[in-house]
Amino acid sequence: MKTVVIATKNKDKLIEMKNAFNELPVEVMSLLDFDEMPDAVEDGETFAENALIKAKFFRNQTGCACIADDSGLEVDALGGAPGIYSARFAGFHADDNTNNMKLISELDRVGVEESKADYRCSLVFVDVDGTEFEVDGTCDGVIKKTARGRNGFGYDPYFYIDDNKTMAELTLDEKNKISHRGSALRQMVDILKDYL
Ligand code: IMP
Repeated sequence: MKTVVIATKNKDKLIEMKNAFNELPVEVMSLLDFDEMPDAVEDGETFAENALIKAKFFRNQTGCACIADDSGLEVDALGGAPGIYSARFAGFHADDNTNNMKLISELDRVGVEESKADYRCSLVFVDVDGTEFEVDGTCDGVIKKTARGRNGFGYDPYFYIDDNKTMAELTLDEKNKISHRGSALRQMVDILKDYL
């Protein structure tokens, strides 16, 4: 059976991604299964470029087929920021809390109470023989300054999917049905069902 390494150490993402690949005839591993794995240098200019950089880097490191994602939040009122810098919006030692505080302070700075936004996810599969597939998923919403909910991660408590509900108020199954990553994962699973 083919081994596919999911190129992330993020436990939240891993749960979402492992669930999706359950139905494929592959042994799924992640970077957490390897000791001392170096970080890839994500110097691409788009989500898709960064996902490809990561997938190739970890395919080379592990010798296994790899799937990598790159994802983030784009806020209209902030000209699409934080975008590919979503994980480090508040600086090198950023975490979800400091990133969210930075998000709110940026909305204050540009003088808006809320803004249309979207989550984006690019997902890339790279096989040992060089075969590549890339898919993209998006999820539209609105960023407001009041946090709601305790589920999910990242910007979810501030990402409203309708007037009164944030992504952080959804169960994982509910989130997967509408999220950027869920959409990208479904597209990738369909491709890999034919390929594998
Ligand atoms: P990546 O690990 O380089 O793809 O960084 C993704 C960053 O975008 C995360 O650290 C979060 O800040 C944000 N992000 C991506 N997907 C989500 C999501 O589903 N909910 C909330 N934040 C997300």
